[in-house]
Amino acid sequence: MRDFVFNGLPSRVVFGAGSLSCLERELDALRIGRALVLSTAQQEKLAHRIADSLGERCAGVYPRAVMHVPIETARAAREEASRRNADCIIAAGGGSTIGLGKAIALESGLPLLAIPTTYAGSEMTPIYGITDGGIKRTGKDPKVLPRTVIYDPDLTLDLPLSVSVTSGMNAIAHAAEGLYAQDRNPLMELAAQEGIAAIARAIPELHRAPRDATARADALYGAWLCGMVLGNVGMALHHKLCHTLGGSFDLPHADVHTIVLPHALAFNASAAPEAMSRIARAIHADSAADGLYELAKAHGAPVALKSIGMRHEDLDRAAELAVSSPYWNPRPFGPAQKVEIRELLQRAFDGVRPD
Ligand code: NAD
Repeated sequence: MRDFVFNGLPSRVVFGAGSLSCLERELDALRIGRALVLSTAQQEKLAHRIADSLGERCAGVYPRAVMHVPIETARAAREEASRRNADCIIAAGGGSTIGLGKAIALESGLPLLAIPTTYAGSEMTPIYGITDGGIKRTGKDPKVLPRTVIYDPDLTLDLPLSVSVTSGMNAIAHAAEGLYAQDRNPLMELAAQEGIAAIARAIPELHRAPRDATARADALYGAWLCGMVLGNVGMALHHKLCHTLGGSFDLPHADVHTIVLPHALAFNASAAPEAMSRIARAIHADSAADGLYELAKAHGAPVALKSIGMRHEDLDRAAELAVSSPYWNPRPFGPAQKVEIRELLQRAFDGVRPD
């Protein structure tokens, strides 16, 4: 047994089909008077459904969340919350909407209640990101950790299949890197392995029947566990590459995670054999990297960066950016490993099997 330090994050989780009906009870528990409800434009119907259920306790709906939390959107939403005397923010949606809620909580100190509808996992972390002048600034602050999270699988029934698969792979990526994190601990390792297994079980079921209630519950359960891992332990090479590709080349978040993960795991395989065998066991495959590549490909997810808008001429710069400020990784990568990282990106660009 390795020595470890574990400092669990304080958030309350309510899980179950139909659990959105517990919202008022949860607001009471937080002693909330009036909440502002956030969503994207695409999910405005859900925001209004929540607003209608709250009646007088709803301070308004702000349906303007977009990807990457532009600072102008965050400021406008914060002003709206203050103008309407909201004493709580409810974020109903994926990582973009929850990200907007976090940006408001960061500046205002208002409590955040999250109702996640994808598998990205932001609701379980104190990590925020705000984009100012084209540059995404990220940080950690306990103020942005949602006080309460309501996971209602019914709200994910209409998540498009393609997004369900890539968002599930995004969740698996958090847990996979958690298994070889420097600050990992036995509880997060259990959560990671169980989270990966739940999502890997759900993806083929969703592919067969996207509205299957059991598969939707499995996927959201897995997302909770994987998000918890992301919130509690450090991430490594895979997340560094995805932050670089998403942040500097404006590629879609979950797609990038799906494509890069098998290649990042192949790079790390020799340095983290125990983590690799736990991942392989969870997905019932012989190899973690190859098994996840197959899981994505067999269920229609993209496997090549070239298919999601990456330009070949940007690969050198991406490698340069990634190695110039590396994260801790079980197999160190820095300027001295630029050639290997460039080769890894080439394989991800071409969409070949991980090596
Ligand atoms: P997203 O929130 O941008 O959602 C993608 C699209 O799907 C949106 O149009 C949304 O309205 C729609 N959608 C969401 N749920 C739906 C549902 N159930 N039915 C139908 N449509 C639905 O995408 P995402 O992948 O959830 O989040 C990505 C963002 O989250 C990125 O900016 C990423 O950096 C951030 N993120 C942050 C953390 C963190 O800890 N801070 C963790 C993971 C992701």
